Amino acid sequence: MTVKKPTPGELEPIETASRDEISALQLERMKWSLRHAYENVAHYRKKFDDHGVHPDDLKTLADLAKFPFTTKSDLRDTYPFGMFAVARSQVARVHASSGTTGRPIVAGYTLKDIDTWAHLMARSIRAAGGRAGDTCHISYGYGLFTGGLGAHYGAERLGCMVVPMSGGQTEKQVQLIQDFRPEIIMVTPSYALVLAEEFERLGVKPEDISLKIGLLGAEPWGQGMRDEIERKLGIDAINIYGLTEVMGPGVASECIESKDGPVIWEDHFYPEIIDPETGQVLADGEAGELVFTSLSKEAAPVIRYRTRDLTRLLAPTSRSLRRMDRITGRTDDMLIVRGVNVFPSVIEEQILRDKRLAGTYQIRLTREGHLDNVEVQCELQRELSNRLSLHETQAIGAELQQRIKTIAGITTTVTVMAHESIARTLTGKARRVVDDRPKQQ
Ligand code: AMP
Repeated sequence: MTVKKPTPGELEPIETASRDEISALQLERMKWSLRHAYENVAHYRKKFDDHGVHPDDLKTLADLAKFPFTTKSDLRDTYPFGMFAVARSQVARVHASSGTTGRPIVAGYTLKDIDTWAHLMARSIRAAGGRAGDTCHISYGYGLFTGGLGAHYGAERLGCMVVPMSGGQTEKQVQLIQDFRPEIIMVTPSYALVLAEEFERLGVKPEDISLKIGLLGAEPWGQGMRDEIERKLGIDAINIYGLTEVMGPGVASECIESKDGPVIWEDHFYPEIIDPETGQVLADGEAGELVFTSLSKEAAPVIRYRTRDLTRLLAPTSRSLRRMDRITGRTDDMLIVRGVNVFPSVIEEQILRDKRLAGTYQIRLTREGHLDNVEVQCELQRELSNRLSLHETQAIGAELQQRIKTIAGITTTVTVMAHESIARTLTGKARRVVDDRPKQQ
């Protein structure tokens, strides 16, 4: 598409502010946020007291390093509403993360928090090239998951006509996209591929699909996946990042003019990168765990929240605010296979490098005796599915197996299957890893 660069006056002042102006605003807001958490959340007060720190100890942004981290277990221990800093009567809405284990993580919002969220999502959609008057098809799930409603309020705020489709019902999604001709879609990358496959099945060419822009996130995806989605849907695929604990989607989002990593909306969320082992704050550019402190949240402030997401902070480009690199993995989804640390994203990259393979895959782990087995299941592109001989298909698998061995250092069994052999996730996030190994005691 022709890139819509923001015209002068279209950006908010903070998006072009100087570093000094940004830091001054952050410091003022950080002081408020620490005090707000300390005075209104017993759990924060106790943690700060036990740590020997008080909100008054924050004189500079760097002083934040004196304060204790917040982790998922803090949120679980105070389930459901123990981290709220306002009375229940002030909470306008709650969301909850899917929580693969145990209790879900609950997030609360005052009306002002929802207003901020809508504002930041609108800013994100505009950065992606969307404008008032566009039609926006939302395939993120609506409900407790933050994706659907988060996207919805932002698109409305920007002035879009919103199609609140939610996830699932693939045939209907595709029909409505053909009938309503939206320019924008908001969807997980894995479901974007499912929709692309449905268009392909119907014989609709990318140039005949009305979509121009996709804001894709909520799960890890790499450049190979971006290329495939862009090619198959004929869109610019923009990376949007967020998490329930901090707000939901729209904590950071990419600009269409540079597509070089999500810009962190630093006026509302202060990022740090830490060494996940030592907790030491690392310099910009160094890889580690992303940590956020909310600067304006009323209902559920987070102080130094450890996201478990691994990435780097990058210097500003299209906006004055810093960017984050793609998420390369999570401190907790790292697989340890026969003693080797493996991030699923590394295997994904190798699958997507081979244009004969579709983007859908699954990594299945089993254990025989003491030995871990890794099976990588992937699929041929539709047009190759019935055309290749068994021998040719096996050769593709052997090549992939060799590349994974060289890059990731592990031996896998690669199974190349016909198109659409792997079950698709129609709502929410794709299940990329199935770990059937007995749990370690
Ligand atoms: P949830 O709170 O259920 O929305 O999940 C948030 C988590 O999804 C984050 O901590 C990340 O691990 C992941 N996530 C969200 N957006 C992205 C993105 N753009 N790229 C990679 N991972 C993402």
